[in-house]
Amino acid sequence: MEDGRVTRGSPKAGLPRLRLRVTPTAEWKLRSGHPWLYSDSIVEQNRHGLTGELAVIYDRYDNFLGIGFYDPDSPIRVRVLHTGKPKEIDEAFWASRLRVALEHRAGLFDEDTNGYRIVHGENDGWPGLVVDRYSTTLVVKIYSAIWFPRLSEISELFDRDLHSQRNVLRFSRNLQSAARGSRFSDGQVLRGEPLSKPVVFKESGLGFEADVLQGQKTGFFLDQRENRRAVESLARGRDVLNLFSFSGGFSVYAARGGATSVTDVDISDHALESAKQNFHLNRAVPSVASCRHLTVKADAFEWIAGSSRSRFDLIVVDPPSLAKRESERERALNAYRGLLEQAVQRLRSDGILVASSCSAHVSADEFYSIVRRTAQQSGRVFKEIQTTRHPPDHPATFAEANYLKTIYLGFSS
Ligand code: SAH
Repeated sequence: MEDGRVTRGSPKAGLPRLRLRVTPTAEWKLRSGHPWLYSDSIVEQNRHGLTGELAVIYDRYDNFLGIGFYDPDSPIRVRVLHTGKPKEIDEAFWASRLRVALEHRAGLFDEDTNGYRIVHGENDGWPGLVVDRYSTTLVVKIYSAIWFPRLSEISELFDRDLHSQRNVLRFSRNLQSAARGSRFSDGQVLRGEPLSKPVVFKESGLGFEADVLQGQKTGFFLDQRENRRAVESLARGRDVLNLFSFSGGFSVYAARGGATSVTDVDISDHALESAKQNFHLNRAVPSVASCRHLTVKADAFEWIAGSSRSRFDLIVVDPPSLAKRESERERALNAYRGLLEQAVQRLRSDGILVASSCSAHVSADEFYSIVRRTAQQSGRVFKEIQTTRHPPDHPATFAEANYLKTIYLGFSS
């Protein structure tokens, strides 16, 4: 029997290597590159596994199939690191994975953009872990407890190879309690000077702040960069509404693109304060300085359905994930329908609708058809400008990772 040679990663010495056998369907999925092995695909296992230890997966002929991190508390029982021939998962393995991720981003950004994603989880071979750069600050965010046993090892690697002045550690919400009792905490500065305020970085020559210690995601929605650039190119002379504005990313671009006014609607005071700050950071750009910026703290669903008669020439609708699990899908589809119906009613003739969804449980086709059907049912004449998917620093290499989709419609009546 072949074995996966492993140097590190078994949290308790003395235990036999964790070995799994899986269903034929799972075998096929893993061979075709899918990075997740679900608990119900495991048909045999030699012992209980510990969080984050390496598990070796064998095929039905007892040949090595792959190796990954075991997570006894998640339905995604193994996050696969490697399939094919046995391989050592050691420091050189991670250093090489990091190098490949950096190579994929080489040439994507010039000196006008120093905020972007360096490592995008499974899609870059780092399951459940992302690394974002904001100027000289790096944010390492983990989405799975499998990383706890090796946080020291990987932070040493990032210190050595990523040339940052400060590294911040973040945990996804579901890990907050798992982290208790460990020597790591959410928002911990692992390297460099402590932080007392957001960090400032550049995107397309514009300045933005990111609250890397507490903000959503890692402090900014870096995944919307290409859509922000597109909105800038469509904004000249328009009154823009940015629903679910967060820190006004779309808004500042629209302002630089010559928008007459931008109205940001968000439920969070913190987000709107940050949007004001982001306008302030770019006050040296004449078109940003002359754009009228309004902020409205409100529930966007209620606000858009409310009695205001204000109309806009460009509306961006980018809500948070409305379906975090499969069971919420139908409700999310209805929420999108309602929201988009109202947004179309608020568009002036020649208005543009930019609608985004980041719900992985709603497919791109499903989302696009909702938006198109809503536009058709409004009885107005429109044409489709474009649809967009993931930016190149957020690659999506398997179906579940393909969460982001955006559609642009131009109305002529
Ligand atoms: N478009 C933004 C990202 C949006 S994230 C960007 O590109 O940066 C989603 C935002 O929706 C968050 O700022 C959150 O505070 C806000 N939000 C969540 N629920 C809301 C609601 N019911 N009404 C208004 N804003 C809401």
